[in-house]
Amino acid sequence: SSLTVKKLAEKLEVEPNSLMQELIGLGIMATINQELDEDTIEVIADEYGYEVTTEPEEEIKEEDLGLNELVQDIEDNPEDLQDRPAVVTVMGHVDHGKTTLLDVIRKANVTASEAGGITQHIGAYQANINGDKLTFLDTPGHEAFTSMRARGAQATDITILIVAADDGVMPQTVEAINHAQAAEVPIIVAINKIDRHNAQPERVKQELTEYGLVPEEWGGDTICVPISALKKENIDGLLEMVTLVAEMEELKANPDRPANGVIVEAELDKGRGAVATVLVQNGTLKIGDSIVAGLSHGRVRAMIDDQGERIEEAGPSTPVEVLGFNSVPQAGDLLQVLEDEKEVRNLAEDRQSKKRQQDLGQKQTVSLDDLFEQIQQGEIKDLNLIIKGDVQGSVEAVKDAIVQQSTEEVQVKVVHSGVGAIREADIMLATASNAIVIGFNVRPDNNARQIAEKEKVDVRTYRVIYKAIEDIRAAMEGLLDPDY
Ligand code: GDP
Repeated sequence: SSLTVKKLAEKLEVEPNSLMQELIGLGIMATINQELDEDTIEVIADEYGYEVTTEPEEEIKEEDLGLNELVQDIEDNPEDLQDRPAVVTVMGHVDHGKTTLLDVIRKANVTASEAGGITQHIGAYQANINGDKLTFLDTPGHEAFTSMRARGAQATDITILIVAADDGVMPQTVEAINHAQAAEVPIIVAINKIDRHNAQPERVKQELTEYGLVPEEWGGDTICVPISALKKENIDGLLEMVTLVAEMEELKANPDRPANGVIVEAELDKGRGAVATVLVQNGTLKIGDSIVAGLSHGRVRAMIDDQGERIEEAGPSTPVEVLGFNSVPQAGDLLQVLEDEKEVRNLAEDRQSKKRQQDLGQKQTVSLDDLFEQIQQGEIKDLNLIIKGDVQGSVEAVKDAIVQQSTEEVQVKVVHSGVGAIREADIMLATASNAIVIGFNVRPDNNARQIAEKEKVDVRTYRVIYKAIEDIRAAMEGLLDPDY
Protein backbone atom coordinates (compact mmCIF):
# COMPACT_ATOMS: atom_id res chain seq x y z
CA SER A 1 0.00 0.00 0.00
CA SER A 2 1.13 3.56 -0.54
CA LEU A 3 0.30 6.99 0.79
CA THR A 4 0.70 10.51 -0.51
CA VAL A 5 2.99 12.92 1.30
CA LYS A 6 -0.06 14.83 2.45
CA LYS A 7 -1.81 11.76 3.88
CA LEU A 8 1.34 10.57 5.60
CA ALA A 9 1.86 13.99 7.16
CA GLU A 10 -1.69 13.86 8.50
CA LYS A 11 -1.13 10.44 9.98
CA LEU A 12 2.14 11.46 11.61
CA GLU A 13 0.59 14.74 12.71
CA VAL A 14 3.40 16.83 11.26
CA GLU A 15 3.50 19.67 8.77
CA PRO A 16 3.78 18.45 5.17
CA ASN A 17 6.68 20.86 4.81
CA SER A 18 8.73 19.26 7.50
CA LEU A 19 7.95 15.86 6.05
CA MET A 20 9.16 17.02 2.65
CA GLN A 21 12.35 18.23 4.30
CA GLU A 22 12.85 14.76 5.76
CA LEU A 23 12.28 13.27 2.33
CA ILE A 24 14.84 15.57 0.78
CA GLY A 25 17.23 14.31 3.44
CA LEU A 26 16.61 10.86 1.97
CA GLY A 27 17.23 12.17 -1.50
CA ILE A 28 13.55 12.17 -2.45
CA MET A 29 12.15 15.33 -3.97
CA ALA A 30 8.47 14.78 -3.42
CA THR A 31 5.45 16.93 -4.10
CA ILE A 32 2.62 17.08 -1.65
CA ASN A 33 0.46 14.68 -3.66
CA GLN A 34 3.22 12.28 -4.56
CA GLU A 35 2.69 8.65 -3.60
CA LEU A 36 5.39 7.21 -1.39
CA ASP A 37 6.24 3.53 -1.45
CA GLU A 38 6.07 1.29 1.58
CA ASP A 39 9.79 1.30 2.28
CA THR A 40 9.97 5.08 2.28
CA ILE A 41 6.92 5.31 4.52
CA GLU A 42 8.51 2.93 6.97
CA VAL A 43 11.78 4.84 7.11
CA ILE A 44 10.01 8.16 7.58
CA ALA A 45 7.61 6.81 10.17
CA ASP A 46 10.57 5.44 12.03
CA GLU A 47 12.24 8.89 12.02
CA TYR A 48 9.19 10.26 13.77
CA GLY A 49 9.11 7.36 16.20
CA TYR A 50 6.14 5.52 14.70
CA GLU A 51 5.83 1.92 13.66
CA VAL A 52 3.99 1.00 10.47
CA THR A 53 1.17 -1.53 10.69
CA THR A 54 -1.09 -2.60 7.88
CA GLU A 55 -4.68 -1.70 8.41
CA PRO A 56 -7.63 -2.43 6.22
CA GLU A 57 -7.72 0.09 3.44
CA GLU A 58 -11.15 1.30 2.76
CA GLU A 59 -11.55 2.92 -0.55
CA ILE A 60 -14.94 4.43 -0.53
CA LYS A 61 -14.98 5.99 -3.94
CA GLU A 62 -18.42 5.65 -5.32
CA GLU A 63 -20.39 6.15 -2.17
CA ASP A 64 -20.84 9.87 -2.58
CA LEU A 65 -22.44 9.51 -5.95
CA GLY A 66 -24.88 6.91 -4.68
CA LEU A 67 -23.91 4.60 -7.51
CA ASN A 68 -24.66 1.62 -5.38
CA GLU A 69 -27.37 2.57 -2.99
CA LEU A 70 -30.41 0.55 -2.20
CA VAL A 71 -33.45 2.52 -3.17
CA GLN A 72 -36.61 1.75 -1.25
CA ASP A 73 -35.03 -0.26 1.53
CA ILE A 74 -38.15 -1.67 3.13
CA GLU A 75 -38.26 -2.15 6.90
CA ASP A 76 -39.35 -5.65 7.82
CA ASN A 77 -41.96 -6.36 10.46
CA PRO A 78 -40.40 -8.45 13.21
CA GLU A 79 -43.13 -11.09 12.81
CA ASP A 80 -42.17 -11.60 9.14
CA LEU A 81 -38.60 -12.51 10.01
CA GLN A 82 -37.40 -16.09 9.77
CA ASP A 83 -34.11 -17.79 10.57
CA ARG A 84 -31.57 -17.76 7.78
CA PRO A 85 -28.25 -19.59 7.30
CA ALA A 86 -25.06 -17.83 8.41
CA VAL A 87 -22.71 -16.58 5.72
CA VAL A 88 -19.15 -17.68 6.46
CA THR A 89 -15.82 -16.60 4.97
CA VAL A 90 -12.47 -18.29 5.40
CA MET A 91 -9.57 -15.88 5.71
CA GLY A 92 -5.89 -16.22 6.48
CA HIS A 93 -2.36 -15.91 5.20
CA VAL A 94 -1.48 -17.37 1.82
CA ASP A 95 -0.73 -21.10 1.92
CA HIS A 96 -2.25 -21.56 5.35
CA GLY A 97 -4.96 -23.77 3.86
CA LYS A 98 -8.00 -21.68 2.89
CA THR A 99 -8.59 -23.42 -0.43
CA THR A 100 -8.02 -26.87 1.03
CA LEU A 101 -10.48 -26.28 3.85
CA LEU A 102 -13.15 -24.82 1.57
CA ASP A 103 -12.75 -27.78 -0.80
CA VAL A 104 -13.03 -30.34 1.96
CA ILE A 105 -16.24 -28.79 3.28
CA ARG A 106 -17.61 -28.50 -0.23
CA LYS A 107 -16.85 -32.04 -1.29
CA ALA A 108 -18.49 -33.40 1.85
CA ASN A 109 -21.65 -31.66 0.66
CA VAL A 110 -21.79 -32.70 -2.94
CA THR A 111 -25.11 -34.36 -3.66
CA ALA A 112 -25.26 -37.87 -5.07
CA SER A 113 -26.51 -36.65 -8.43
CA GLU A 114 -23.56 -34.38 -8.87
CA ALA A 115 -20.90 -36.58 -7.29
CA GLY A 116 -19.84 -38.18 -10.54
CA GLY A 117 -20.14 -35.06 -12.62
CA ILE A 118 -18.27 -31.83 -12.85
CA THR A 119 -18.41 -29.80 -9.68
CA GLN A 120 -20.07 -26.47 -10.15
CA HIS A 121 -18.01 -23.54 -8.94
CA ILE A 122 -19.97 -20.36 -8.50
CA GLY A 123 -17.94 -18.58 -5.84
CA ALA A 124 -20.12 -19.60 -2.94
CA TYR A 125 -21.87 -22.73 -1.72
CA GLN A 126 -24.12 -24.05 0.99
CA ALA A 127 -23.22 -26.87 3.34
CA ASN A 128 -25.46 -29.00 5.54
CA ILE A 129 -24.12 -29.50 9.04
CA ASN A 130 -26.37 -31.85 11.01
CA GLY A 131 -29.46 -30.26 9.53
CA ASP A 132 -28.18 -26.68 9.83
CA LYS A 133 -27.24 -24.85 6.68
CA LEU A 134 -24.14 -22.67 6.36
CA THR A 135 -23.29 -20.54 3.33
CA PHE A 136 -19.61 -20.30 2.47
CA LEU A 137 -18.12 -17.56 0.35
CA ASP A 138 -15.61 -19.39 -1.76
CA THR A 139 -13.80 -16.32 -3.11
CA PRO A 140 -10.52 -15.22 -1.61
CA GLY A 141 -11.53 -13.89 1.76
CA HIS A 142 -9.88 -10.55 1.44
CA GLU A 143 -11.58 -9.66 -1.76
CA ALA A 144 -14.92 -10.57 -0.31
CA PHE A 145 -14.27 -8.27 2.57
CA THR A 146 -12.56 -5.30 0.99
CA SER A 147 -14.53 -4.75 -2.17
CA MET A 148 -17.83 -5.44 -0.54
CA ARG A 149 -17.24 -3.46 2.59
CA ALA A 150 -15.91 -0.57 0.57
CA ARG A 151 -19.32 -0.48 -1.03
CA GLY A 152 -21.07 -0.65 2.28
CA ALA A 153 -22.18 -4.23 1.90
CA GLN A 154 -21.71 -6.44 4.85
CA ALA A 155 -21.73 -9.89 3.33
CA THR A 156 -20.29 -12.00 6.12
CA ASP A 157 -21.72 -13.16 9.43
CA ILE A 158 -18.82 -15.28 10.67
CA THR A 159 -15.13 -15.49 9.77
CA ILE A 160 -13.04 -18.60 10.06
CA LEU A 161 -9.49 -17.37 10.55
CA ILE A 162 -7.15 -20.09 9.40
CA VAL A 163 -3.62 -20.10 10.79
CA ALA A 164 -1.05 -22.75 9.89
CA ALA A 165 0.35 -24.27 13.08
CA ASP A 166 3.80 -24.58 11.52
CA ASP A 167 3.94 -20.95 10.43
CA GLY A 168 1.99 -18.91 12.95
CA VAL A 169 0.49 -15.45 12.69
CA MET A 170 1.65 -13.77 9.47
CA PRO A 171 0.92 -10.37 7.85
CA GLN A 172 -2.25 -11.46 6.06
CA THR A 173 -3.44 -13.12 9.26
CA VAL A 174 -3.21 -9.74 10.95
CA GLU A 175 -4.92 -8.07 8.03
CA ALA A 176 -7.77 -10.58 8.23
CA ILE A 177 -8.12 -9.98 11.97
CA ASN A 178 -8.27 -6.23 11.36
CA HIS A 179 -10.93 -6.61 8.71
CA ALA A 180 -13.10 -8.89 10.76
CA GLN A 181 -12.78 -6.78 13.87
CA ALA A 182 -13.53 -3.57 11.98
CA ALA A 183 -16.65 -5.19 10.57
CA GLU A 184 -17.53 -6.61 14.00
CA VAL A 185 -17.74 -10.10 12.57
CA PRO A 186 -17.14 -12.94 15.05
CA ILE A 187 -13.90 -14.84 14.46
CA ILE A 188 -13.42 -18.56 14.92
CA VAL A 189 -9.79 -19.64 14.70
CA ALA A 190 -8.91 -22.83 12.83
CA ILE A 191 -5.38 -23.84 13.71
CA ASN A 192 -4.49 -25.83 10.61
CA LYS A 193 -1.80 -28.32 9.62
CA ILE A 194 -1.65 -29.92 13.07
CA ASP A 195 -0.54 -33.08 11.27
CA ARG A 196 2.82 -31.43 10.55
CA HIS A 197 5.67 -32.58 12.74
CA ASN A 198 6.68 -29.00 13.38
CA ALA A 199 3.16 -27.84 14.30
CA GLN A 200 3.06 -25.51 17.30
CA PRO A 201 -0.59 -24.79 18.05
CA GLU A 202 0.20 -23.31 21.47
CA ARG A 203 2.55 -20.80 19.90
CA VAL A 204 -0.20 -19.75 17.48
CA LYS A 205 -2.55 -19.12 20.41
CA GLN A 206 0.13 -17.10 22.15
CA GLU A 207 0.66 -14.96 19.06
CA LEU A 208 -3.08 -14.40 18.64
CA THR A 209 -3.35 -12.88 22.10
CA GLU A 210 -1.24 -9.99 20.83
CA TYR A 211 -4.13 -9.09 18.54
CA GLY A 212 -6.84 -9.30 21.14
CA LEU A 213 -7.84 -12.88 20.40
CA VAL A 214 -7.58 -14.77 23.70
CA PRO A 215 -8.45 -18.47 23.48
CA GLU A 216 -11.38 -19.72 25.58
CA GLU A 217 -9.17 -22.18 27.39
CA TRP A 218 -7.05 -19.26 28.54
CA GLY A 219 -10.02 -17.36 29.85
CA GLY A 220 -10.83 -15.37 26.71
CA ASP A 221 -13.72 -15.73 24.31
CA THR A 222 -12.01 -16.81 21.11
CA ILE A 223 -12.84 -20.31 19.95
CA CYS A 224 -9.74 -22.09 18.61
CA VAL A 225 -10.13 -25.41 16.84
CA PRO A 226 -7.11 -27.48 15.84
CA ILE A 227 -7.63 -29.10 12.43
CA SER A 228 -5.89 -30.69 9.52
CA ALA A 229 -7.62 -29.68 6.32
CA LEU A 230 -5.38 -32.00 4.33
CA LYS A 231 -6.07 -35.08 6.47
CA LYS A 232 -9.69 -34.03 7.02
CA GLU A 233 -9.15 -34.08 10.78
CA ASN A 234 -11.62 -32.38 13.09
CA ILE A 235 -13.44 -30.53 10.31
CA ASP A 236 -16.71 -31.62 11.92
CA GLY A 237 -15.55 -30.15 15.21
CA LEU A 238 -14.81 -26.84 13.50
CA LEU A 239 -18.15 -26.72 11.70
CA GLU A 240 -19.99 -27.56 14.89
CA MET A 241 -18.44 -24.50 16.49
CA VAL A 242 -19.44 -22.39 13.51
CA THR A 243 -23.08 -23.52 13.75
CA LEU A 244 -23.00 -22.83 17.48
CA VAL A 245 -21.82 -19.27 16.95
CA ALA A 246 -24.35 -18.87 14.11
CA GLU A 247 -27.16 -19.85 16.48
CA MET A 248 -26.08 -17.26 19.00
CA GLU A 249 -26.12 -14.58 16.31
CA GLU A 250 -29.85 -15.20 15.72
CA LEU A 251 -29.67 -14.34 12.05
CA LYS A 252 -33.01 -13.48 10.49
CA ALA A 253 -34.43 -12.31 7.19
CA ASN A 254 -37.81 -11.91 5.53
CA PRO A 255 -38.17 -14.35 2.62
CA ASP A 256 -41.49 -12.82 1.66
CA ARG A 257 -40.39 -9.62 -0.06
CA PRO A 258 -38.51 -8.51 -3.18
CA ALA A 259 -34.89 -9.58 -2.93
CA ASN A 260 -31.76 -7.63 -2.28
CA GLY A 261 -28.28 -9.07 -2.19
CA VAL A 262 -24.68 -8.62 -3.13
CA ILE A 263 -22.65 -9.62 -6.19
CA VAL A 264 -20.01 -12.13 -5.12
CA GLU A 265 -18.46 -12.79 -8.51
CA ALA A 266 -19.26 -11.84 -12.07
CA GLU A 267 -17.89 -12.48 -15.52
CA LEU A 268 -18.71 -12.42 -19.18
CA ASP A 269 -19.42 -15.93 -20.38
CA LYS A 270 -19.07 -16.56 -24.11
CA GLY A 271 -22.25 -18.52 -24.46
CA ARG A 272 -24.37 -17.13 -21.67
CA GLY A 273 -23.50 -13.44 -21.53
CA ALA A 274 -23.07 -11.68 -18.21
CA VAL A 275 -23.14 -14.19 -15.39
CA ALA A 276 -23.12 -13.11 -11.77
CA THR A 277 -23.09 -15.03 -8.53
CA VAL A 278 -25.46 -13.31 -6.18
CA LEU A 279 -25.73 -13.84 -2.49
CA VAL A 280 -29.34 -13.13 -1.63
CA GLN A 281 -29.37 -11.29 1.67
CA ASN A 282 -33.02 -10.56 2.19
CA GLY A 283 -36.22 -11.44 0.38
CA THR A 284 -36.54 -14.03 -2.37
CA LEU A 285 -35.13 -13.66 -5.87
CA LYS A 286 -37.35 -15.10 -8.60
CA ILE A 287 -37.19 -15.80 -12.31
CA GLY A 288 -38.49 -12.75 -14.19
CA ASP A 289 -37.55 -10.24 -11.47
CA SER A 290 -36.29 -6.86 -12.71
CA ILE A 291 -32.86 -6.38 -11.20
CA VAL A 292 -30.23 -3.67 -10.88
CA ALA A 293 -26.71 -3.94 -9.48
CA GLY A 294 -24.27 -1.04 -9.69
CA LEU A 295 -24.27 0.08 -13.31
CA SER A 296 -25.91 -3.08 -14.65
CA HIS A 297 -29.54 -4.05 -14.94
CA GLY A 298 -31.71 -6.73 -16.46
CA ARG A 299 -34.27 -9.44 -15.81
CA VAL A 300 -33.57 -12.75 -14.12
CA ARG A 301 -33.61 -15.15 -17.06
CA ALA A 302 -32.30 -18.22 -15.27
CA MET A 303 -30.83 -19.17 -11.91
CA ILE A 304 -28.44 -22.00 -11.14
CA ASP A 305 -27.58 -23.10 -7.62
CA ASP A 306 -24.26 -24.33 -6.22
CA GLN A 307 -25.15 -27.91 -7.16
CA GLY A 308 -25.56 -26.96 -10.79
CA GLU A 309 -29.35 -27.25 -10.66
CA ARG A 310 -31.66 -24.75 -12.28
CA ILE A 311 -33.90 -23.17 -9.70
CA GLU A 312 -36.94 -20.87 -9.79
CA GLU A 313 -36.34 -18.91 -6.59
CA ALA A 314 -33.57 -18.20 -4.13
CA GLY A 315 -34.24 -17.16 -0.53
CA PRO A 316 -32.09 -15.41 2.11
CA SER A 317 -28.42 -16.49 2.37
CA THR A 318 -28.69 -18.51 -0.84
CA PRO A 319 -25.84 -18.12 -3.33
CA VAL A 320 -27.06 -18.38 -6.87
CA GLU A 321 -25.78 -17.80 -10.35
CA VAL A 322 -27.94 -15.27 -12.14
CA LEU A 323 -28.28 -14.90 -15.91
CA GLY A 324 -29.93 -11.90 -17.49
CA PHE A 325 -27.79 -8.84 -16.72
CA ASN A 326 -27.21 -6.50 -19.67
CA SER A 327 -23.58 -6.00 -18.63
CA VAL A 328 -21.19 -7.47 -16.07
CA PRO A 329 -21.69 -6.01 -12.58
CA GLN A 330 -18.77 -5.77 -10.17
CA ALA A 331 -18.12 -7.94 -7.14
CA GLY A 332 -19.46 -6.04 -4.18
CA ASP A 333 -22.24 -4.29 -6.08
CA LEU A 334 -25.56 -4.37 -4.31
CA LEU A 335 -28.36 -6.11 -6.14
CA GLN A 336 -31.95 -5.13 -5.79
CA VAL A 337 -35.26 -6.00 -7.34
CA LEU A 338 -37.47 -3.13 -8.48
CA GLU A 339 -40.98 -2.88 -9.87
CA ASP A 340 -40.30 -3.29 -13.57
CA GLU A 341 -37.70 -3.17 -16.31
CA LYS A 342 -38.16 0.53 -16.88
CA GLU A 343 -37.32 1.32 -13.30
CA VAL A 344 -34.14 -0.74 -13.19
CA ARG A 345 -33.01 0.63 -16.52
CA ASN A 346 -33.59 4.21 -15.46
CA LEU A 347 -31.66 3.70 -12.25
CA ALA A 348 -28.74 2.00 -14.01
CA GLU A 349 -28.59 4.66 -16.72
CA ASP A 350 -28.73 7.43 -14.17
CA ARG A 351 -25.78 5.85 -12.37
CA GLN A 352 -23.88 5.42 -15.61
CA SER A 353 -24.16 9.08 -16.50
CA LYS A 354 -23.05 10.11 -13.01
CA LYS A 355 -20.12 7.76 -13.35
CA ARG A 356 -19.17 9.23 -16.73
CA GLN A 357 -19.20 12.71 -15.28
CA GLN A 358 -17.05 11.57 -12.41
CA ASP A 359 -14.55 9.93 -14.76
CA LEU A 360 -14.40 12.99 -16.94
CA GLY A 361 -13.92 15.27 -13.98
CA GLN A 362 -11.07 13.17 -12.72
CA LYS A 363 -9.23 12.85 -15.97
CA GLN A 364 -9.40 16.41 -17.03
CA THR A 365 -8.04 18.40 -14.17
CA VAL A 366 -4.49 19.43 -13.76
CA SER A 367 -3.18 21.27 -10.74
CA LEU A 368 0.19 22.71 -9.88
CA ASP A 369 0.30 20.45 -6.84
CA ASP A 370 0.40 17.23 -8.80
CA LEU A 371 1.90 18.58 -12.00
CA PHE A 372 5.26 16.98 -11.45
CA GLU A 373 3.67 13.61 -10.86
CA GLN A 374 1.62 13.86 -14.01
CA ILE A 375 4.68 14.92 -15.98
CA GLN A 376 6.63 11.97 -14.67
CA GLN A 377 3.87 9.58 -15.53
CA GLY A 378 3.78 10.99 -19.01
CA GLU A 379 0.23 12.18 -18.56
CA ILE A 380 1.12 15.73 -19.41
CA LYS A 381 3.09 17.10 -22.31
CA ASP A 382 1.64 20.59 -22.42
CA LEU A 383 1.07 22.83 -19.45
CA ASN A 384 -1.87 24.98 -20.48
CA LEU A 385 -2.41 28.29 -18.74
CA ILE A 386 -5.04 30.98 -18.75
CA ILE A 387 -3.70 34.33 -17.59
CA LYS A 388 -5.80 37.20 -16.34
CA GLY A 389 -4.38 40.49 -15.02
CA ASP A 390 -5.32 44.00 -13.99
CA VAL A 391 -3.47 45.77 -16.80
CA GLN A 392 -2.46 44.76 -20.31
CA GLY A 393 1.22 45.43 -19.65
CA SER A 394 1.54 42.98 -16.79
CA VAL A 395 -0.44 40.31 -18.63
CA GLU A 396 1.99 40.55 -21.57
CA ALA A 397 5.03 40.52 -19.29
CA VAL A 398 3.82 37.45 -17.47
CA LYS A 399 2.92 35.67 -20.66
CA ASP A 400 6.41 36.11 -22.07
CA ALA A 401 8.15 35.08 -18.86
CA ILE A 402 6.00 32.02 -18.37
CA VAL A 403 6.32 30.66 -21.89
CA GLN A 404 10.09 30.71 -21.41
CA GLN A 405 9.69 28.11 -18.68
CA SER A 406 9.10 25.36 -21.23
CA THR A 407 11.37 22.37 -20.86
CA GLU A 408 12.11 19.32 -22.97
CA GLU A 409 9.37 17.37 -21.21
CA VAL A 410 6.73 20.06 -21.01
CA GLN A 411 5.64 22.83 -23.30
CA VAL A 412 4.16 25.76 -21.41
CA LYS A 413 1.33 27.29 -23.43
CA VAL A 414 -0.93 30.22 -22.81
CA VAL A 415 -4.31 29.28 -24.24
CA HIS A 416 -5.95 32.56 -23.33
CA SER A 417 -5.01 35.84 -21.70
CA GLY A 418 -6.88 39.02 -20.94
CA VAL A 419 -7.54 41.94 -18.66
CA GLY A 420 -10.16 41.76 -15.92
CA ALA A 421 -11.45 39.47 -13.17
CA ILE A 422 -11.47 35.69 -13.57
CA ARG A 423 -14.95 34.79 -14.81
CA GLU A 424 -17.05 31.77 -15.53
CA ALA A 425 -15.96 31.73 -19.17
CA ASP A 426 -12.30 31.50 -18.11
CA ILE A 427 -13.07 28.50 -15.90
CA MET A 428 -15.05 26.78 -18.63
CA LEU A 429 -12.20 27.30 -21.03
CA ALA A 430 -9.82 25.91 -18.42
CA THR A 431 -11.99 22.81 -18.10
CA ALA A 432 -12.11 22.34 -21.84
CA SER A 433 -8.38 22.80 -22.34
CA ASN A 434 -7.26 21.25 -19.04
CA ALA A 435 -5.59 24.47 -18.01
CA ILE A 436 -4.56 26.20 -14.82
CA VAL A 437 -5.87 29.74 -14.30
CA ILE A 438 -3.47 32.42 -13.12
CA GLY A 439 -4.59 35.83 -11.90
CA PHE A 440 -2.43 38.96 -11.41
CA ASN A 441 -3.92 41.40 -8.98
CA VAL A 442 -7.30 40.02 -10.00
CA ARG A 443 -9.50 37.42 -8.33
CA PRO A 444 -12.21 35.05 -9.50
CA ASP A 445 -15.73 36.37 -9.04
CA ASN A 446 -18.14 34.35 -6.91
CA ASN A 447 -19.64 32.48 -9.78
CA ALA A 448 -16.24 31.55 -11.19
CA ARG A 449 -15.02 30.42 -7.79
CA GLN A 450 -17.96 28.07 -7.35
CA ILE A 451 -17.60 26.56 -10.78
CA ALA A 452 -13.85 26.18 -10.37
CA GLU A 453 -14.46 24.25 -7.19
CA LYS A 454 -17.01 22.01 -8.80
CA GLU A 455 -14.93 21.39 -11.92
CA LYS A 456 -11.75 21.10 -9.89
CA VAL A 457 -9.92 23.78 -11.83
CA ASP A 458 -6.76 25.06 -10.17
CA VAL A 459 -6.97 28.84 -9.84
CA ARG A 460 -3.92 30.71 -8.53
CA THR A 461 -3.69 34.39 -7.78
CA TYR A 462 -0.47 36.39 -7.43
CA ARG A 463 0.57 39.93 -6.68
CA VAL A 464 4.05 39.68 -8.13
CA ILE A 465 5.23 38.12 -11.35
CA TYR A 466 8.34 36.44 -10.09
CA LYS A 467 6.29 34.51 -7.50
CA ALA A 468 4.15 32.99 -10.24
CA ILE A 469 7.19 32.05 -12.29
CA GLU A 470 8.77 30.53 -9.21
CA ASP A 471 5.70 28.42 -8.48
CA ILE A 472 5.41 27.13 -12.00
CA ARG A 473 9.06 26.26 -12.20
CA ALA A 474 8.93 24.57 -8.80
CA ALA A 475 5.83 22.61 -9.75
CA MET A 476 7.48 21.39 -12.93
CA GLU A 477 10.46 20.25 -10.92
CA GLY A 478 8.38 18.71 -8.19
CA LEU A 479 9.52 21.18 -5.54
CA LEU A 480 6.40 23.18 -5.02
CA ASP A 481 5.73 24.28 -1.47
CA PRO A 482 2.25 23.32 -0.38
CA ASP A 483 -0.07 26.28 -0.17
CA TYR A 484 -1.99 26.10 3.07
P1 GDP B 1 -4.35 -21.07 0.69
O1 GDP B 1 -3.30 -20.31 -0.03
O2 GDP B 1 -4.60 -20.52 2.06
O3 GDP B 1 -5.62 -21.31 -0.07
O4 GDP B 1 -3.70 -22.50 1.00
P2 GDP B 1 -3.94 -23.91 0.28
O5 GDP B 1 -5.24 -24.49 0.70
O6 GDP B 1 -3.68 -23.75 -1.16
O7 GDP B 1 -2.79 -24.77 0.94
C1 GDP B 1 -1.43 -24.50 0.77
C2 GDP B 1 -0.62 -25.77 0.91
O8 GDP B 1 -0.74 -26.27 2.22
C3 GDP B 1 -1.09 -26.85 -0.05
O9 GDP B 1 0.04 -27.52 -0.51
C4 GDP B 1 -1.91 -27.76 0.83
O10 GDP B 1 -1.90 -29.09 0.40
C5 GDP B 1 -1.19 -27.62 2.16
N1 GDP B 1 -2.09 -27.89 3.30
C6 GDP B 1 -3.32 -27.36 3.51
N2 GDP B 1 -3.83 -27.83 4.65
C7 GDP B 1 -2.93 -28.66 5.17
C8 GDP B 1 -2.88 -29.48 6.36
O11 GDP B 1 -3.80 -29.53 7.17
N3 GDP B 1 -1.76 -30.18 6.56
C9 GDP B 1 -0.71 -30.16 5.70
N4 GDP B 1 0.36 -30.91 5.99
N5 GDP B 1 -0.72 -29.42 4.59
C10 GDP B 1 -1.80 -28.68 4.32
